[in-house]
Amino acid sequence: MAALPQQPTILSFEEARHLVEEHARRVCPTGAEAVDLHSAMARVLALPVTADRDLPPFRRAMRDGYAVRAADLAQLPATLEVIGEIKAGTLPEDIPSEVKPGQAVAIMTGAPAPAGADAVVMVEYTKPQGNRVSITRGINAGDNIVPIGSEARRGDILLEAGTRLDYSAIAALASVGKQHSVPVFRRPRVAILSTGDEIVEVNEAPGPTQIRNSNSYSLAAQVRQAGGEPQLVGIARDEVSSLQTLIAQGLQSDLLLLTGGVSMGKYDLVERVLEEFGAEFLFTGAQIQPGKPIVFGRAKGKYFFGLPGNPVSTMVTFELFAKPLLQALEGATPGPLTFLHAKLKSEIKTKTGLKRFLPGLLSGEFEHAQVELARWHGSGDVAATARANCYIVIPSDRERIAAGEWVAVMLR
Ligand code: AMP
Ligand code: MG
Repeated sequence: MAALPQQPTILSFEEARHLVEEHARRVCPTGAEAVDLHSAMARVLALPVTADRDLPPFRRAMRDGYAVRAADLAQLPATLEVIGEIKAGTLPEDIPSEVKPGQAVAIMTGAPAPAGADAVVMVEYTKPQGNRVSITRGINAGDNIVPIGSEARRGDILLEAGTRLDYSAIAALASVGKQHSVPVFRRPRVAILSTGDEIVEVNEAPGPTQIRNSNSYSLAAQVRQAGGEPQLVGIARDEVSSLQTLIAQGLQSDLLLLTGGVSMGKYDLVERVLEEFGAEFLFTGAQIQPGKPIVFGRAKGKYFFGLPGNPVSTMVTFELFAKPLLQALEGATPGPLTFLHAKLKSEIKTKTGLKRFLPGLLSGEFEHAQVELARWHGSGDVAATARANCYIVIPSDRERIAAGEWVAVMLR
């Protein structure tokens, strides 16, 4: 059997994360496909989307009111002759050909402003008097009219390739008529391989010392949420041949996630077997808790992560390290980790040396957001983590954080 990876490299959290991001910047997406608008949410755009016409295509009124010449309102109140009405969608031939000095046109939000008018006075500042209107407030030329093409010119790029489509991007796609064939990158196939002699499948009756496989399912959910397509390759026994078979299978996918078997135990064989596949180890640990034994590397042209088997370690290390690589395989420009800040409800005492991501409970709104540690029994405590709603981030140089201090919180 091959020896352990020659030099274990344990990085700080920041170094490890940057290394993953560096590799993520270099990976190529795994292909593209076309989907319809309803299926495009959260997918990643594979080609830029351009405007098929000027946006807006006409001078659009932004308010209900009167289209006027601003200069006519120099003296207030001003009384103007109303020469017509323009609703949204009014055809060009039904629009007065020009608003002349001393004239106004009643106009509705979304309607095309007539020639001659350079502003729209809101209806709130007007009083109709027969076929005239009295206006009590002045206005600047250009107010409440959006010029043709001011949002985009025909052919301008509205959405760049690599954009993760959210609901506002869906609106942009709809606005240029992209009902079918939205070009998106294919979802990367992510193999998920659990390891451990004590692990049994969810549908099996566990013996007294056996544990149901929860990691394959939490990971599948995280993979799906991040935009990948999970492929469960089963549970490997803590023995070389079983690991060999399933790792070989897992390396067929675009990315391989293993859980368990990366600690210091006698039967933690994952790294050794990966070495037999010619693995290059980029790091073999990070100064974090939970999740310190996290392994990142490459074998047979595929990236893999060896995630520690404790269920919360598996969840946290996926979020911190595997996710940016998965997103890059999906063609997305990986985003930074984002934190919000909340006031700590009760004191935290810990040890220095590791950056900690501990399950927390965030409550309160706006400037009253506060957070406290979930009561848990360590990184195997799935139930406590399920009751939590965030992770409290504790810097590696802090031993004590007092109640009332601001702490960083990572949402999930
Ligand atoms: P390991 O990283 O293999 O040393 O496992 C650490 C802990 O996580 C042990 O208590 C395992 O029983 C548990 N564990 C490992 N894999 C899984 C899994 N797939 N589902 C649930 N628990 C697991
Ligand atoms: Mg194990």
